[in-house]
Amino acid sequence: MNQHISGLYWATRVGGKRKKVHRIIAEKALGKPLPSGAQVHHVDEDKLNNSNSNLVICPNEEYHQLIHRRTKVYDLGGDPNKDKWCNYHNTVHSKGEFGKDKSRWDGLNKMCRTAQNEYQQERRAT
Ligand SMILES: [Zn+2]
Ligand SMILES: [Zn+2]
Repeated sequence: MNQHISGLYWATRVGGKRKKVHRIIAEKALGKPLPSGAQVHHVDEDKLNNSNSNLVICPNEEYHQLIHRRTKVYDLGGDPNKDKWCNYHNTVHSKGEFGKDKSRWDGLNKMCRTAQNEYQQERRAT
């Protein structure tokens, strides 16, 4: 396959069209075209590593983002089933430390309660 780096990915030309190589490999593994909306995730997060074991097909972008969030918790030493990444402290805490937020994908606020309090105090101070 004649491939070149396009942005963060390997790309190639198929019938005059540019295609991402990881999608071609995923389609080969699947034996059919990827369903619409399907995303291909790179397990080691190196988007140039297209070995078969590094690719996971996700049914949609939401599922794909879920894998990224879980990987982040895992990388920081947490348990993705019990812990959640806090975007304020850039670390993981147990899910119980997060307040509820119905508008979020998992029903929990993106920062822990302590962070919410600090954040509000900072806003009041300025
Ligand atoms: Zn990914
Ligand atoms: Zn926090």
